[in-house]
Amino acid sequence: MVKKADRRLLEKLVEISGSDNVIADGPAYEDYSHDMADYMAEPAVVVRPRSEEEVRRVVELARSMSIPILARGAGSSLTGAAVLEGALVIDTRNMNRVLKVDTVNWLVEVQAGVSLEDLNKELKPHGFFFPPDPASSYICTVGGAIAEGSGGLRCVKYGTMKDWVVALRLVLANGRVARLGEPLAKNRAGYDLVHLVVGSEGTLGVVTEAYLKIIPIPSVKTNRFLLTFGDWESTGEVIGRLRSSKIMPHLFEFMDGETIHALNEKTGTAFDESEATLLVDVEAVVTAEATKIFESCGALTIKLAKDEEEAESFYQARTMAYLAVKSTATGVQVEDISLPIDRLGEYLRTVKRVAKKHGLRIPVNGHAGDGNVHPVILYEVSDPKSREAAGDAFEELCSIAIGMGGSVSGEHGIGSQKPRQLGEQLRAHEGEETLRLMKEIKKVFDPEGLMNPGKYVDAA
Ligand SMILES: Cc1cc2nc3c(=O)[nH]c(=O)nc-3n(C[C@H](O)[C@H](O)[C@H](O)COP(=O)(O)OP(=O)(O)OC[C@H]3O[C@@H](n4cnc5c(N)ncnc54)[C@H](O)[C@@H]3O)c2cc1C
Repeated sequence: MVKKADRRLLEKLVEISGSDNVIADGPAYEDYSHDMADYMAEPAVVVRPRSEEEVRRVVELARSMSIPILARGAGSSLTGAAVLEGALVIDTRNMNRVLKVDTVNWLVEVQAGVSLEDLNKELKPHGFFFPPDPASSYICTVGGAIAEGSGGLRCVKYGTMKDWVVALRLVLANGRVARLGEPLAKNRAGYDLVHLVVGSEGTLGVVTEAYLKIIPIPSVKTNRFLLTFGDWESTGEVIGRLRSSKIMPHLFEFMDGETIHALNEKTGTAFDESEATLLVDVEAVVTAEATKIFESCGALTIKLAKDEEEAESFYQARTMAYLAVKSTATGVQVEDISLPIDRLGEYLRTVKRVAKKHGLRIPVNGHAGDGNVHPVILYEVSDPKSREAAGDAFEELCSIAIGMGGSVSGEHGIGSQKPRQLGEQLRAHEGEETLRLMKEIKKVFDPEGLMNPGKYVDAA
């Protein structure tokens, strides 16, 4: 049954991608009306193109009918970026092939719909890997991770998506295909349009393919620690002390007691539920020095993973943190604050104060080694007071972060969640002119405002 899209549009889409790949109703359609932080919006129709040429024809069609376009991967976004009312949704996951693994140039050519986990499965037999690892890697796509400029657990050591994309193909709002960048280790010919697209949240075009850098699976031995502390601030001290001792952790993840409690309850783990838990990887050669730092910062327990299996189980538990916590309330607002690393402990203390002031539960997890934390503001949807308190806490946590020289997004992006805060941050730190330039750039790529409109820079 046709629900939203008009029949002419449906027929044309079926002509392009086949009836199996056009969704206008039913449970499959419902999946596209929310993201993973419960932002809701009903699309007009969903199409699952099988090739770049199909994407191009779909975009041309949408433009001819003035229908807004939403590129979408797994819909694991947490900011409303992956839902759009009345949109023609282009789900890229039929384009899920790794096209070429190049072990000499250390590059992989890949279609946009491949999940990061599948990409790493393909790379492993070659002895290579792709480092950025959002905790959603098991589903999130290359295209979605590029468009969000995603980070993850290993980014403290390896950086985020922006550090790993060298070239991509982009279907523009005018229906033409732009090839941005080159599959080269070095290239500085012209403005860097590749990195304009990284973090563009589907507002500049649809990514269909990319060349990503890859590196050999590290041979250096690392040790994984699970550490507990009696207070949150000490964890800020640990990262400060490691860094000033010139120790670069390969992983430095934070979870508070409430997060660990939710994990134990929901996933059957049996971790100590102390105030703060850290998951830290350091190179084996610096294990003794790092252990001394953990002790002197007041670690209550220092557990070294006994083998790879146990190390992996710690990692997997961390990737489940958000979903475990989310399942303990009916409403959620996920923060994604990025701070100067030396102010991490101070900010964590602030989160506690804000939670108490508003009478809310705000468990925190995050990639604390690069100053990126996720206070997860929980509330009850049916209780207006609780909703209002969550909104106030959200605003306050963003403003405090901006005042401390931080950013309202380290990796999740802006979507429809934070455009006002994006404007506030840019005006405070970079100036009005920067925002003006961003708005002009959007117009150059998408003069008719068809690509994921009304969010992000558009709404800042
Ligand atoms: C449990 C959980 C853990 C998470 N952990 C992390 C984390 O550690 N680090 C992190 O950075 N994020 C994390 N996220 C957020 C999210 O998973 C990432 O942003 C992810 O990269 C989004 O990929 P996706 O394929 O789901 O994209 P979607 O959610 O489908 O889309 C996200 C945005 O990208 C755009 N987009 C998608 N595909 C394309 C394309 N081909 N061309 C142009 N634009 C496109 C969409 O329009 C939208 O604006 C987490 C989410 C969950 C649910």
